[in-house]
Amino acid sequence: MHFKKIDEFENLEMSYICDFSGGYISRNKQLFGNIELSKLNQFILEKSVFGTPIFKMGEGNKKLLILSGIHGNELSPQIANLRVMNELIGHDLGASLYFIPFASPKSTMNNERTFNSMDLNRSAHINNSVSNLILKAILDLGIDFVGDFHSTALNSNPGFESVFSSKSPSSESFLMANYIAGSVGCDIISFDFAGSSYKGAVEDVCNLKRVPAVTCEVLCPFGNIVSGSVEKSLAQMRSFLDYFGINTHQMLSD
Ligand SMILES: [Zn+2]
Repeated sequence: MHFKKIDEFENLEMSYICDFSGGYISRNKQLFGNIELSKLNQFILEKSVFGTPIFKMGEGNKKLLILSGIHGNELSPQIANLRVMNELIGHDLGASLYFIPFASPKSTMNNERTFNSMDLNRSAHINNSVSNLILKAILDLGIDFVGDFHSTALNSNPGFESVFSSKSPSSESFLMANYIAGSVGCDIISFDFAGSSYKGAVEDVCNLKRVPAVTCEVLCPFGNIVSGSVEKSLAQMRSFLDYFGINTHQMLSD
């Protein structure tokens, strides 16, 4: 996988997961109306027309991925991911941070949960699905830890703010989940063995491949955002980074 250095931004590189998932994010008015039109966001939106971009910032021994948009109609984490990227760009991170803000730009454009009727969080084990290609990139790049950020609506599953993980085979998943849930003050949902209750979730398939991973959920209606939901997702992302000693609050005040 080849990453290209982006001259307009200090410390930013990018590549593509695939070229068949692109979309015009700006057509999603609920999302577009809630993002800052920074130079970086405009750049990310332009690149998302041609597929699923993956971005890299910083250099270090630990390689972490912040993933969002596996469900295109879960807007809070996608907006939060852009905010983290905007905050961290140009900072000395001490780690290699990878970002996929829009796993499936086409789904986000259409404000849809699925990609061509496929639930990407049930198809990471299916060869060459978008989420499977994300998994392959994770393995190819040697990414050590994955945070997959979602939102959940009332009366859906799980329907409350929470962090999912499995204790086995990658036991650190549970430690990460415990830390994030404790620091943001939400519930933890844990399973003994990854993928035992359903197949093809990105988090589970990572865990099975020995890449510790968590799924973080904030409460928000699908296809929309509500007051505080982006901030809650952002707090989960900060906590995920904080677990690895990447203190974004301290970094931003330096
Ligand atoms: Zn989801």
